[in-house]
Formats: sequence, C-alpha cells, structure tokens
Amino acid sequence: MRRRVIAGNWKMYKTQAETRAFFTAFLPLVAGAGHCDIVIAPPYPSLAAAAEAARGSAVGIAAQNVFWEKEGAFTGEVSAGMLAEAGCRYAIIGHSERRQFFGETDETVAKRSKAALAAGLTPIVCVGELLAEREGGKTEEVLGRQFRGGPGSLTAEEFSRILLAYEPVWAIGTGRVATPEIAAAAHRSLRQCAAEKFSAAAASALRILYGGSVKPDNIKGLMAQEELDGALVGGASLDAKSFAAIVNH
Ligand code: PEP
Repeated sequence: MRRRVIAGNWKMYKTQAETRAFFTAFLPLVAGAGHCDIVIAPPYPSLAAAAEAARGSAVGIAAQNVFWEKEGAFTGEVSAGMLAEAGCRYAIIGHSERRQFFGETDETVAKRSKAALAAGLTPIVCVGELLAEREGGKTEEVLGRQFRGGPGSLTAEEFSRILLAYEPVWAIGTGRVATPEIAAAAHRSLRQCAAEKFSAAAASALRILYGGSVKPDNIKGLMAQEELDGALVGGASLDAKSFAAIVNH
C-alpha cells in the first residue's frame, strides 16, 4: 500500500508574514490527518519561516527548485544543502513553469534530482504533456521521453527515493482538471516506464501524484483512483481552509 502525499505548490505567493498566518490557520485543521504525508512548497524567502512554523507538526517543507552544484559563482541559484539547512525535506523539480519559462530540460531535471537526493531531500519530479501533444495523440510518447531523460536516468537506489508528479500542462492553473480516468491512464503509462527501466517492484512502490486544477470539490473523485498516490496542488493550496479540505477529503 503506497502512502499518499498531498503537496501544495505556492509558486511566487506569500511573504514570510503571510506564511506564518497560513500555518496558524492550517495546522489545527489537519491535526487529525494521519492518512497522508502533507507537504508545502513556499517561495525561497519564506522557507525558514515555514519550517519554523511547521516544526513539531506532520507537515514537510519543500523548495520549488534546486541547483545541482554545492556552491560557487552561480548568481541566483540555491544548493540542495542550503535548502536542507533551511528546513526543507523535499524539492519540486522540473515543474512545467520551469520548463516553459526558464529553459528546464530533462537533463537538468536529472542533475537537480541527483543533487537533491545527495543532500537528503526527496525530489518531487514533475512531468506532463502540452495540450497540443495530448490532442495529437502524443501523451505517452512525451511522458516516456520525459521519464527516460529525467527520473529514468537515476540509479535504482536513487529512483526508489523520489516522488513523481503527473501534471498535464493544459490542466495547470486553468480550472480544467483531468478526469480521474485520464489521470489514471497517464499514471499507468508512467508506472510502465518505471517497470521497463527499473523493475516491477520499483514501479509498484513508486508514488505518483496528480497535479492540475485540484480543488476541494474534485479531490474525492481523483483519489478514488488507486493509481493516484496523492496530489500536487497549486492555487487551492494558498488558502488554509481549501488546502485542509483537500488534505482531509
Ligand atoms: C501546480 O502549480 O503544480 C498546479 C497543479 O497548479 P494548479 O493546482 O493551480 O493547477
């Protein structure tokens, strides 16, 4: 039985004060939620405030990205060790906004994942197809390519420590959620990639989150699919009540 994960990606929202206020409201609402791992990814300047606010709770903190070098002349970048020291336990890697606006590739996804793992962080590696790719019948091909070039290039030991997030780009921030059946089919195809590259055991242990317009009113239907091992939530994770409703679905 794979333990589910509900993760919130705050993107470029919430100051340190807003982060503290969120946790004050959110933690009591999820105090009884023992059924899943809860993760929140604030922007870099709010990480330490989030880690401090979450201390002693079941909520893990994630970075939204990570650079692969340990230190050096890399202006604007942050290393995995620095993130771990700031209180992170996870790092989102290869989010479609990073791929779309900041030139992220499958190769850099692999490098970031290795660096995160070496520092003890759990990567949440994102993959997903564009609308044109889905409409062109290319979803499986795209997912296969992203898998093989990114998480598929890790060692088996490294791979056993990652989370995968299937995030169809057409569903992110659009209000157009994938149907539970569409999401489950994509998860099955990713699990098949994992079985081919690693082993059947590695594939069945892999936790794959669905992301794309997850809201309190659609989480139940999505989580009714056994293939879905949790959710990566953007917009709806910014409000304590709505994210708690998703966690407590
Ligand atoms: C995301 O940012 O990963 C995401 C899934 O966003 P939203 O839930 O707002 O679609």
